[in-house]
Amino acid sequence: MSRSTAPGRPTGLLLSTPMTMDPPKVRCNQPDPTADQPASPGERSQGRFVKNDDRGNPVAFSHDLEAIVPPAGWAGKIAEFGIGLEDAEVEQLGKYLAALMDVNTRTNLTAIRDADEAWDRHIFDALTLVPVLGEMPEADGRKRVIDVGSGGGLPGIPLAIAMPEIDFVLLDATKRKTDFIENCVAWLGLTNVTVINGRAEGVGQDKGRKLLQGYTGGHREKYDGAMARAVGKVAMIAELTVPLVKVGGLVFLTKGEKADEEVTDAKKALHMLHTHHVGTIETPTGRVVVLEKRRGTPKMYPRRDGEPKRVPLGITGGKN
Ligand code: SAH
Repeated sequence: MSRSTAPGRPTGLLLSTPMTMDPPKVRCNQPDPTADQPASPGERSQGRFVKNDDRGNPVAFSHDLEAIVPPAGWAGKIAEFGIGLEDAEVEQLGKYLAALMDVNTRTNLTAIRDADEAWDRHIFDALTLVPVLGEMPEADGRKRVIDVGSGGGLPGIPLAIAMPEIDFVLLDATKRKTDFIENCVAWLGLTNVTVINGRAEGVGQDKGRKLLQGYTGGHREKYDGAMARAVGKVAMIAELTVPLVKVGGLVFLTKGEKADEEVTDAKKALHMLHTHHVGTIETPTGRVVVLEKRRGTPKMYPRRDGEPKRVPLGITGGKN
């Protein structure tokens, strides 16, 4: 992947990019993430690579699926946005979409069933994060980014295809979904993706193994960046993402028209999490809310499973 966007801080980036499409109304269509199979906090998925003939498994798909070709003009829109994709990357994106659309006919992974629409509302929408991820401050070694509530692999999989230089961790509470992502990762041969089946509340408290000096492994404060799309409102999702990033790390939340309202409602929550709203970027498919963690997260966050959603930080009354 090549980009023509000039380097700089993410805050000023693309703020002037005109809207060329309606903001996406991507909603999670599964109210309870653990409804079909609960995962224990921080549990690493034992999901295996599902073979062609594994017919009983709803997230299995044929490895002979042909890549879906983007609609006319799609590559031009991406190029106009400043992203140059190699042919092999477009092919990988098309294969991922083929798997998503195929499995979606048997088990619900996304409400979008039309492939042309999915190229815009899933793939392009995910790729709008390429410039901001590319401009994250330098890391020691490879940059690490976690996708919280990745569902069927969005935005994580398209980004992992387009940005092989970054290591991605895709986290979701629903086993069926992380199994699907693992199948895709194996099929596409992506070496920069790790899949975790678990809840962000538990993973965000996982400091790793205690050594004489500090900790090793774990997930808390280990990432340069975190991102989430269609998981919840800003106040709720901030509690699930901020603990995972290092001090100075960034959180990117893919949002639609309600971005500003949600940021206003999250003012108190962001204060409690020592996090600042550093900007909202307009993209051709919606908005990206950028948060920066300024100090370590108080130990009590994230709270226990379900609490961030049930009683969102700093918001009185009503679900977030
Ligand atoms: N990001 C994807 C999926 C959105 S649906 C997309 O844009 O298409 C929301 C996803 O978040 C579901 O798959 C659900 O299982 C997951 N989720 C919700 N709460 C979670 C939590 N506390 N920890 C981990 N995953 C969670």
